[in-house]
Amino acid sequence: MLQSKLFTKMEKTPPRDEESLNAKLLVQAGFVQKLMAGVYTFLPLGLRVLNKIENIVREEMNNAGAIEMLMPGLQPKENWEATKRWDTFDALLKTKSKFGGEYAMGPTHEEVVYPLLKKHLASYRDFPVAVYQIQTKFRDEKRAKSGLLRGREFRMKDCYSYHASDEERDKYYDVMKNSYMNIFKRLELNAVPTNAGGGTFSELSMEFQVLCAAGEDVIYLCENCNVAVNKELSGDLAAKCPKCKDLTNEKKSIEVGNIFPLKETFAKNFNLVFKDNTGKEKLVSAGCYGLGTSRVMGAIAEVKNDDFGLIWPKSVAPYDIHLVYLKSNDRNVMAEAEKFYRKCLEADAGILFDDRDDVSAGSKFAESDLIGIPLRVVISDRTLEKESAEIKKRNEKNAGLVKLDDLDSYISKDS
Ligand code: ATP
Ligand code: MG
Repeated sequence: MLQSKLFTKMEKTPPRDEESLNAKLLVQAGFVQKLMAGVYTFLPLGLRVLNKIENIVREEMNNAGAIEMLMPGLQPKENWEATKRWDTFDALLKTKSKFGGEYAMGPTHEEVVYPLLKKHLASYRDFPVAVYQIQTKFRDEKRAKSGLLRGREFRMKDCYSYHASDEERDKYYDVMKNSYMNIFKRLELNAVPTNAGGGTFSELSMEFQVLCAAGEDVIYLCENCNVAVNKELSGDLAAKCPKCKDLTNEKKSIEVGNIFPLKETFAKNFNLVFKDNTGKEKLVSAGCYGLGTSRVMGAIAEVKNDDFGLIWPKSVAPYDIHLVYLKSNDRNVMAEAEKFYRKCLEADAGILFDDRDDVSAGSKFAESDLIGIPLRVVISDRTLEKESAEIKKRNEKNAGLVKLDDLDSYISKDS
């Protein structure tokens, strides 16, 4: 991508109408733009990050045997009345058609996926089934001042698994837990598995919490075992680690995902039953697995930054390489920069090329730090004097020179 063609402008200072660090950084650097509180446009750079996050989630869900589909955001009132949640779901956003009829703007999808699967699940032979989607959700959140951490419109991966018995469901729960651990590892995000079992150390209801002072949750963390218990639900048990029995520490955190068995009530509401191997009718057993992909992006921005801007992990960075050309009267400088740019494109490496002629070196460096691409490569008069380019990793202090002939080793295929 040529930076001269990137229509989005970066701000010199953080936006004044944002309180949270993630929004300040992401807006200033041109990743997202606020339309209104809790509602953001994903600009080209931001969409690349979101897509990378969602593709990692997608790959791990597929590996866990879940099958992707896409359910509607607009949902009929009747389905929400069937679960008695039309009036009780706090953050439900409702809308009326001028032709009559009322709708829910989907905050979650039990009201769609249960009746949907009713058509397809009849016999014990039909199980297990796990379906997921990555989709835009709506919630009428009271407070929406945390940037991408709490949106009124946001992105979520939600997965629902269906089983012929609770035992089978509990086994799949472990598969999903493993899959979540893989996802957060690939995102380079330390998301602590946190028991949320409601006063017990039930392993069967878990949140994934990222330690962060700006988080809205409070957890009791065991630093030895990297496990935690949510304070909201924990009672006195939380003072000690369930594993090593050492004392825990109280920490603020961001919930980026959760996995839990679904109550029987949804199956009852929609009469989701099947015939077991003796021909007896039984209620389907189900699990639910949520992960906020846009919240994950906000969490990464919130915890991976310094005074100069964002520091993206390679797996989700908008580009792998930021090539910065510094204006010169010697045409060779641009020619060398273009040569490297073309090589990267040919190798399918993700590269942003700051080819602009009308921006000072100081501004280019400041913007490069703000955007936070893992590797910066500078080609200028000064580097060419030494037949070199300057290389600097975003997460390291010092820059170094690399001979132009050796630059190729920095090109890696975009993931
Ligand atoms: P919270 O307690 O933070 O309100 P929740 O427990 O209601 O979240 P779920 O309904 O289980 O969340 O949603 C699954 C995931 O979706 C959460 O773990 C979170 O990552 C994400 N999520 C939930 N609400 C929002 C929101 N308003 N903005 C962005 N992401 C959200
Ligand atoms: Mg929660």
